[in-house]
Amino acid sequence: MDTQQMLYEGKGKKLFLTNNPQEVLVEFKDDLTAFNAEKKGSEQGKGALNCEISTAIFELLIQNGIQTHFIKKLDSTHMLCKKVQIIPIEVVVRNVATGSLTKRLGIEDGKILPFALVEFYYKDDALGDPIINDEHCKILGITQDTTELDFLRTQARKINQILSEFFITRNLRLIDFKLEFGKDNEGNILLADEISPDSCRFWDKDTNDKLDKDRFRQNLGSVKVAYEEVLKRILQK
Ligand code: UDP
Repeated sequence: MDTQQMLYEGKGKKLFLTNNPQEVLVEFKDDLTAFNAEKKGSEQGKGALNCEISTAIFELLIQNGIQTHFIKKLDSTHMLCKKVQIIPIEVVVRNVATGSLTKRLGIEDGKILPFALVEFYYKDDALGDPIINDEHCKILGITQDTTELDFLRTQARKINQILSEFFITRNLRLIDFKLEFGKDNEGNILLADEISPDSCRFWDKDTNDKLDKDRFRQNLGSVKVAYEEVLKRILQK
């Protein structure tokens, strides 16, 4: 495949144009960042692990009727995806209180929430990705259309149901995760970005050990070992 110029470099990935204007090449990087890139690190092999984990999760979601940008995995760190215009909202789904939710609302860490909570954050590094509601979305010009936001919430809940049910069979509790969506050139809203231990929290079902980026955020060590464990459990038959 002819790769062309780099379209974008984010914290965990690079995006390249391809010779097909409807498709982009996504490269998964080994870099790790946390706290809005105030903490930086790198773990050799992390990009390949996230590429493989994301591939498996996109395939599972596609099998279950979710429209995504994923086309195929190309090699250890690259996947081919449909080109979309990213909607600048981070959609966070939470099953268990931890992280910023416990800090913001004083809810006890580890408390199971009575229902899956869906939150919107404005994707803007300079502002530190502030939490926003539907009216903020309208004022910011993200969308004038509440049905689009309702669609994001509905998709997020469906994805949560599919993934939570899958991961519990692999002895992992899906605590919370972040999704991004984008629009293709026909205006369809597709699940985009990645789904990996960089963007999800996974706790071991029996021990509640953290098997995700919190190992990096909280200096718990062996980030790669944890990501390898997540991949091993996803691939187990
Ligand atoms: N998350 C993410 N990118 C972000 C912010 C959060 O992938 O820029 C994920 C994070 O990994 C977790 C969920 O979204 O699975 C909720 O994160 P939270 O709001 O608790 O933020 P944090 O504690 O990471 O500051």
